[in-house]
Amino acid sequence: MVKLKNELTGPRVFVALGNQNEKIHLTGGYAKPEKNKSICGTDLAGKTIVDARDIAPREGYQDSKLWCLRCLHLLSYEALDQIILFSSVSMEKVGTYGAVVVIEHLERPRKYKTHPFNLTPVPEKSEWRIFERD
Ligand SMILES: [Zn+2]
Repeated sequence: MVKLKNELTGPRVFVALGNQNEKIHLTGGYAKPEKNKSICGTDLAGKTIVDARDIAPREGYQDSKLWCLRCLHLLSYEALDQIILFSSVSMEKVGTYGAVVVIEHLERPRKYKTHPFNLTPVPEKSEWRIFERD
């Protein structure tokens, strides 16, 4: 597995929902492309795997107590466009995931003056998502 910490776009992260009292785990991304286990290694059998865009940035999912903190920690190794979806998750006393992880991620090239952001190469033209006019 290649972890490109500064990459701006990367494979989609998914949210794994179990029963109401279970922590929400993450899967997909670079860490678990096959989505058979969570990023933290938990078996996901019986859980509903949902595109993070439909859960993570939404009202009602902002309390970090709902989330697996190991998964949220490991999420910081995923691409920025995936991390940013979790910006509004709020950790008591520490601040939002955005303040703690996203800003840190954005400041990295400036802080260390070494790694510019890596942009992924342009996909094959046949893979472009071209807007179809009516
Ligand atoms: Zn987890």
